[in-house]
Amino acid sequence: MTDHTIPIKNPANGSIIKEIEKDTPEKIRDQIEQGHNAFKSWARMDAHHRASLLYQWSERIHEQKNEIAEVMTLESGKTINESLGEVDYARSYIDWYAEEAKRVYGRRIPANSEDKRILVSKKPVGLVAAITPWNFPAAMMTRKAAPALAAGCTFIIKPAEETPLTTIKLVQLAHDAGIPEDVIQCVNHSGKLVGDIFTESKQIRKITFTGSTPVGKTLIKNSADTMKRVSMELGGHAPLIVAKDADIDFAVNQTIASKFRNAGQTCICANRILVHENIIEEYSRKLVEQVKQLKVGNGMNEDTDVGPLINEAGFNKVAFQIDNALDNGAELLCGNKYDSDSDKNYFYIHPTVLKNVDQSMRIMQEETFGPVIPMVSFNDLDEAIDISNSTPFGLAAYFFTNDYRTATYIHDNLEFGIIGWNDGAPSAAHAPFGGMKESGIGREGGTEGIEPYLETKYLSIGNL
Ligand code: ADP
Repeated sequence: MTDHTIPIKNPANGSIIKEIEKDTPEKIRDQIEQGHNAFKSWARMDAHHRASLLYQWSERIHEQKNEIAEVMTLESGKTINESLGEVDYARSYIDWYAEEAKRVYGRRIPANSEDKRILVSKKPVGLVAAITPWNFPAAMMTRKAAPALAAGCTFIIKPAEETPLTTIKLVQLAHDAGIPEDVIQCVNHSGKLVGDIFTESKQIRKITFTGSTPVGKTLIKNSADTMKRVSMELGGHAPLIVAKDADIDFAVNQTIASKFRNAGQTCICANRILVHENIIEEYSRKLVEQVKQLKVGNGMNEDTDVGPLINEAGFNKVAFQIDNALDNGAELLCGNKYDSDSDKNYFYIHPTVLKNVDQSMRIMQEETFGPVIPMVSFNDLDEAIDISNSTPFGLAAYFFTNDYRTATYIHDNLEFGIIGWNDGAPSAAHAPFGGMKESGIGREGGTEGIEPYLETKYLSIGNL
């Protein structure tokens, strides 16, 4: 291992899978220049042609689904079944935006005099830089690259240092599919170094970022001097409300699906479970029965449900939150069992359920990013809504009820960008994903997801 390389670790056992070269600052600046130079011809290419190249990219990914999933599990630790699912999910963004490329419409506005015409058209913003996290190495990339390329932007990405191999593979497949090399590029170095180079560059016109709120804020500040467009998909702290008339079995099932995906390391996973006091005994009993069945282990084993945490810092944060809750009076229903080795560099936390949690505990105030369920009981719906809205985050929220009036009331009052009503898995390429408050700026997915890559250009024609 040298200062010039990035070691990629398998979180399942701490072994080094591979080392990749760090790109030098000069090389990164050269690549930015190339991406900028490639913009004119890519933007000029007709949208149908760009769409067909995106489809070919998606097809190549499909052909190599198993290989990509394996790389993803090796570098991220997520289970192989989740990786296979993520490859399809990642492709769904490419397919969706291949279609949207053809639907970037302008409009004609009626003028206020006979000799004038007013036309509005949409133009790609230019070279786009993306910075992505380790928890969804494929989907976070395609969710940004596909709308950017569809809009006619060129694209340069810095993946997370933990999981660059998936991204490198996807970029290679894009080139194999016929997308020019300068149109989609990957650079590797530390986040800070690349972030500074990206934000200083006048040639990069937009930054799109998924990651932590503090880094997102830094990127926004540093983008001000060059007035870059920014899209930010940042931290969450999702509440999940179970109302007294909910279908309890279904709510339990969806809580588990939402919470333990990627070992709880997703920005939209349920983080605070608020259950009506009339049903909390039944809900918690059924929940714990199922949580105890979850199998913890290496994600490469097909029967694993919950894989390792990504690294020691992530592990320490989760372990601290559990200790802090227990020290302050929370009741342990299951879990709080660790299988970790700092020397060997692997870290597992067994699915943990805590009851009688309250707002004073750290677990209720900050994102957990681990397989822990803190439960709080409530009596009045407004109390549950107030707790839900009480943090600076506003990414995802969930609620379970079979009463449409209760549902309408909760929906009207939750301050979150993504809401699942009787649904623990709301993400989809065709729907707008993103947060309110300090959880972000902008939306990815859906018809909304291509807009941030477009400028509006207005033409007024006179003297007709
Ligand atoms: P996490 O805690 O999930 O790793 P981060 O926000 O630290 O979240 O990381 C998400 C991405 O942001 C990664 O690609 C990381 O390399 C990058 N990153 C980290 N620090 C900075 C920074 N100062 N500027 C730009 N990117 C950064």
